[in-house]
Amino acid sequence: MKSYAMGIDFGSTTAKVVILDENGQVVASAISQKGVVSDEGVRVALAEALRQAHIEQSAVGKVVSTGYGRRMLDIADRSITEITCHARGAVALVPDVQVVIDIGGQDSKVIAIDPNGLVARFAMNDRCAAGTGKFLEVLARAVNIDIENMGTVALQATKTVSITSMCATFAETEVISLLAEGYEKPVVLAAVHLAVAKRTVGLVSRMGKRDPVVMTGGVSQNVAAVHFLQQELKTTLIIPPGAQTAGALGAALFALDDLRSEKAEGSTKAEVLDDEVEQQLALPQDCSPACSKKTALVTFKH
Ligand code: ADP
Repeated sequence: MKSYAMGIDFGSTTAKVVILDENGQVVASAISQKGVVSDEGVRVALAEALRQAHIEQSAVGKVVSTGYGRRMLDIADRSITEITCHARGAVALVPDVQVVIDIGGQDSKVIAIDPNGLVARFAMNDRCAAGTGKFLEVLARAVNIDIENMGTVALQATKTVSITSMCATFAETEVISLLAEGYEKPVVLAAVHLAVAKRTVGLVSRMGKRDPVVMTGGVSQNVAAVHFLQQELKTTLIIPPGAQTAGALGAALFALDDLRSEKAEGSTKAEVLDDEVEQQLALPQDCSPACSKKTALVTFKH
């Protein structure tokens, strides 16, 4: 019987798959890291999720895709933007969430949640690496350290230095110069994370900071990114278990609605709003010298 619902987040660097049973319980949650958008990454995460759930693909009744490559998946019945899916996933994990910060491999976004748990407005940076996981990846490579360890090392810094450029290319040059000047890796890495935090605070302030703030996306697994973001925001971030798979969870919840064919009003409204989100995401944004122009700010009237 096709009684399972599946959400696939086809991200820019990782693929995430969440499977729910007919009661909405998470029976599988898998992540595959392949470096770039890849079919192979989805295949690996999919196989792992089915293995965890002890089911075959034929037992899955509905599939919703989200993320950077959401339209590339033949297996999906439909796709929904990552803004809407991260919001839904975050609300499922932390029902009273007010603001969601999602920093992934290729973009960063801040989503304000309305009293009904829907997207009220969002701001995002998705046209350059500034303030994203990509920025951290480029600079981890420049410092010759694994992405998984860079946060722990950054927290060992005993003094501070600043990186002035948010452009990954220029920041890489700055990092190399700082190392050549004799600054130790932890100090340079702390500066890198502080730069990401400051960039994110800019997006949060445009949304209006309201607690509780939930962080989702892969960068939530980076302890220094979280530390500096908390310091700059002057708040404690909630990072629920499953933060990196929150988008896939949101997609799986929409798939579960489809499976049950009984949509709650909130869910239907979320989908109507998602069409607007999709239109906003399609707007061209050029990489211009004024980095502030590279963020989109969108507000919805409900
Ligand atoms: P996407 O959905 O765009 O593929 P993710 O939300 O999975 O992106 O986030 C990927 C980013 O998360 C990477 O660029 C990296 O910076 C960060 N990341 C993922 N896992 C870890 C980890 N274990 N430790 C530190 N950073 C991580």
